[in-house]
This record gives sequence, C-alpha cells and structure tokens, in this order.
Amino acid sequence: MTDEKRNLPTRLGNRPLEKPEDAEPILPVDPPAKWDHEADLVIVGSGGGGLAGALLAKDKGFSVILIEKMDSTGGTSQYAGAFYAYNSRVQKKKGIEWDANEVAMGSLFETGYTGNIHLFRNMIEKSGEVVDWIEDQGFEWENEIAGYPAVTSRGGHQRLCYIPMTELMNFLAKKCKEKGVKFMVNTQVDALVRDNGRIAGVKATVNPEGTTVFVKAKKAVLMAAGGMQHNLSLLKKYAPSVYKGVGSVSMSLPCNTGECFRMGLGVGADVAGFDSCTCFEGGIDHRTENGGPWFRFLYSGDVQLSRAPWLHLNKACERFMMMGNNLGQYMLRPPAMMSQPGGRAYVIFDNKYEENIWKIQDDVPLGLSCKRPLTPDVPGNEIITRNETLAPKDWRLAVKEAIDVKVIKVADTLEELAEKLGLDKVLFKQAVEKWNKYCDAGEDPEFGTPARFLIPIKHAPFYGLKAGGSTGPMGTGLRTNPDMQVLDKDQKPIPGLYAAFFTAGGSIGEGRTPMGFGLLGGCSMSTTSGYTAAQHAVSQK
Ligand SMILES: Cc1cc2nc3c(=O)[nH]c(=O)nc-3n(C[C@H](O)[C@H](O)[C@H](O)COP(=O)(O)OP(=O)(O)OC[C@H]3O[C@@H](n4cnc5c(N)ncnc54)[C@H](O)[C@@H]3O)c2cc1C
Repeated sequence: MTDEKRNLPTRLGNRPLEKPEDAEPILPVDPPAKWDHEADLVIVGSGGGGLAGALLAKDKGFSVILIEKMDSTGGTSQYAGAFYAYNSRVQKKKGIEWDANEVAMGSLFETGYTGNIHLFRNMIEKSGEVVDWIEDQGFEWENEIAGYPAVTSRGGHQRLCYIPMTELMNFLAKKCKEKGVKFMVNTQVDALVRDNGRIAGVKATVNPEGTTVFVKAKKAVLMAAGGMQHNLSLLKKYAPSVYKGVGSVSMSLPCNTGECFRMGLGVGADVAGFDSCTCFEGGIDHRTENGGPWFRFLYSGDVQLSRAPWLHLNKACERFMMMGNNLGQYMLRPPAMMSQPGGRAYVIFDNKYEENIWKIQDDVPLGLSCKRPLTPDVPGNEIITRNETLAPKDWRLAVKEAIDVKVIKVADTLEELAEKLGLDKVLFKQAVEKWNKYCDAGEDPEFGTPARFLIPIKHAPFYGLKAGGSTGPMGTGLRTNPDMQVLDKDQKPIPGLYAAFFTAGGSIGEGRTPMGFGLLGGCSMSTTSGYTAAQHAVSQK
C-alpha cells in the first residue's frame, strides 16, 4: 500500500484547503420558499459534541436533526484514547476529587491569563456530569486499558478516564438513533440561513447526488463541526504561528476544514483563541518534503519515530533544547520546534534506532504512553491500530514507507545526510560530532540532557527528517460564552447559534501552541461543550 493511499481515511482525501478564498467568511442565505426538513435543534457534525448535544436535546423533548458530511458518524472524536473529566462518580468511587475552581484557575494560569475563566470553570464542572450522564445512558466506563487503571495519574493531576473513544462514539450514535434523532449523513452544510437576525436553519448538499436541501431549525443550530486544521488559508489568517510551525496534522481528520467557522464569521461572530492550536512534536513533514499527505495519523510508526528524543537540530545546525521524555520535555518540545527558523527541526538518528527507541521510553507511565512504537506484540496495540487504513500495525512498516517516499532521508555519510536535509555539511558534521562526544562522556554540558537520552549517531546508514509540530485540537475558533452561544463582536449572543469545541475557540487561551490536548482533552472538550450547548438550548422557552 502506498503512503498516500494509506492516508485517505475519508472520502475528502488528504489535501488541505489552501486557496485564498477558503479563508473568506461564508455569508448567510435567506430562508427558502419551502423548507425540506425541520427540527427544533439542527446539529452540524457528529463528533463527540454533535452526538452528545443531539442525545441530550432529544432526551429533553426536542426534535433533532444531525447532519454529517462524512458517510459515517464519529468524526475525529472516535480516534481519541482518553476522556478527561473531573469529579465523575467513577473517579469519586476511587476517592479522587478536585476543587473545580482551583483546576480552572490553574488552567487559566497555564494560558498566561489569556483564557476565559468562566468558560474553563464551566467545562471543568460539566465534565464529570457528562461522564455520569453517559454512564446513566448505559455506557460502561472501562476499568482498564492496556493495563492502566481507569482513573489514573497524569502529570500530577489524577483526572483520566481512559477508554478508546470509538466505543463511546458508537454508543452515543446508537442511543441517538434509538431515541429518534434523525441523521443525515453524506450531507455537507454549506451555509447558515438567517431570518430577521436569527439563525433559522442551514443550507446543505446531499451527496453523492449533489441535491441542495434547506433544514429548518425551530429553536437553534449547533455547529459541532470540528476545527480548521485542514484549511491552510484559515490557519494562515487566524493562526499564523500554527501555519508556520506545523509539519503535519496528526490528531484531526481531513473532515476538519473549518467551513462552519467561516459561516460563523459570515454572521458576524467574534474570534477567540487567535493563533492557537495544541500541538504534539514530531510533525513529520510529508507535504512540503514531497507533496505527500497533510494528515499523518498520530500512531503511525513514522510519526512515533520522529517524536522520539533523538538529536534535534535547527536549520543553523544548532541544538535548541534538552532532550528527554519526561513531561516537561513533552510539553515544551512542540513550541520549541515550531519556533525554530522556518518552523522546523531536524531529527537525526542512526541505524540502531529500532534497538535504541526502546531505551528511551516514557518517564511518565500513562501520560506519554502513546509515544511508544507500535508493534504487533505490544499489549493494547490492537486498540490503537485497529484501523489499518490509518497506520500499519507494525510501526517499522510505516517507517519503511516514509523512507521509500524520501521523507525520512537515509545516507551512508553525515555529509551526504546533511546534503539531503538541505543543511550545511560542515556545521552539521560538527554538531553531530559534538553530540557524540557528549554521548561518550554521558553528559550534556549545554542543556543537561539526562545520560540515557544521549544516544550517539555512529552507525551508518544515518537517518534524518524534517519535522514541525503536529496538530491536536484547535485553539482558534468562534467566540462563545460559557453556555456555548456564539458571540458577536459586541459580545452579544447571536440568536439561535451555538458552537461546540473545536468550531468554538478559546480552549487554550490566545497566541499559544502548547503540547497536547488542552484544558480537558479534545474529546471531552467536544463532548462536554456539545452537551452544554444543548442543555442551554432546551432551557430557552
Ligand atoms: C489519533 C488521535 C488520538 C487522540 N487522542 C486523544 C485523547 O487521548 N484524548 C482526547 O481528549 N483527545 C484526543 N484526540 C483529539 C480528539 O479526538 C479531537 O480533538 C476531538 O475529538 C475533536 O472533536 P470535534 O467535535 O471538534 O471534531 P470531530 O470529532 O471531527 O467532529 C466534527 C464532525 O463534523 C463534521 N463536519 C465538519 N464540517 C461539516 C459540515 N460542513 N457539514 C457537515 N458535517 C461537518 C466532520 O465530518 C466531523 O464528523 C485524538 C485524536 C486523534 C486523531
């Protein structure tokens, strides 16, 4: 299977939108003479936010139509591994509780006070409620995955319900269907319909026929359509640091193209979280290297390999940080890589990588476990690599594919590798030799890299790749209040319009590209915010 084919998980293909007009606001249209469908609540997108919002609203007596442009439900949300929550029953049973305000204040502090405390507090408070509500619907939160407890420790915060989210998304979709939510899949929402200043529905295209339909929303429209990671024009305009520093998208499927964000702009919505996206390290750069795919599944072997703490250099062949795998390194490496000249780092290792990668495994037991290479014999592997259209089960195959398409460069000499990477040969050789000297001495006088991460580059052939950040959940999106009502530039709710994360923005503050998933993790943020929006919509008379 070619690399390109493997990375076509959706019918949308794997090319980001990048024409200038792809960043333009999408203006609303007038109501039609005749509506084709109608419901109290019309929801766009069937990730966690869309499904939870639909189920909650239906339970509260609303009629609901859920529109999904893909041919199946679940969006990116189905690939998440963990659902972060505070003060759910499952956590309390284990004797673990938090002060929600303290957590919210901690999160606000992490954003450098650029976030919205009211929104943060509401999400944190609601997250446990959502876990309990899902359990009340009949979902069993698993106790263990890959040997880890359901409620476990992450970076000092014990807050993790760890389950594969495919089960959760399938469960929510099944419940929605049982209870009478009407699904319209293969149907892309193209514009909002506005009537007398109120959002009155949506205009959509039913595929593959290409038929236009108008769907009336008697009470509200909830846009739970994901972020804009696959729209480079939007990133360039609204998240320029992300645009500069991201090498590939690893935690957002190609369905996240930002058109609902543009529809929000078209009805005068404000933007929150300008220039922000959570990022992982190791954004292996297929697209600018060889015109390859923009989406690289997080657990693909080439992505995992490039995330390891090998020697990292910048364009000037300078090192720029301590290497390691502890939480601090994990958090800091994405923004550090993304802020190097050209927004890229060069990751260098030698032909002992298969052996060495096991020596530099995670220091934090669960939090970083997704960085391990995936092989068929690793317990839990079947969960995260069950979809072989996204990544081969054996991590080495994905590495081989990346070598075949010359995204990972291989060379017999350091000079040759420098040339292939477009780096200065002399400076590159000096940098590697200096690194090897530190490795031999077991000490890194420049950055204090712990000895076990000092792995020399001595055995030809040598390997190198160019990587930036790799995106997680988006931070830039439509501004909402804590009830997820979309706000205009005067900070007034736009009548009839809600947005869930990550069509909504502001989850990680402003001007930020931190590691990981942000406040509650992407899946929980999406689900909790969709639930919150629906709760508010049904409370409006
Ligand atoms: C490999 C991987 C691992 C991850 N691990 C974790 C984890 O452990 N914990 C965690 O919290 N998060 C994790 N995430 C991130 C998390 O899954 C996402 O951030 C989150 O689920 C995104 O939710 P969403 O609702 O914003 O988008 P989605 O789930 O993508 O939902 C949006 C839906 O809207 C649809 N849509 C978009 N536009 C339109 C339109 N115009 N008309 C109709 N439909 C439309 C899309 O097709 C999509 O189905 C991971 C992601 C990946 C890929």
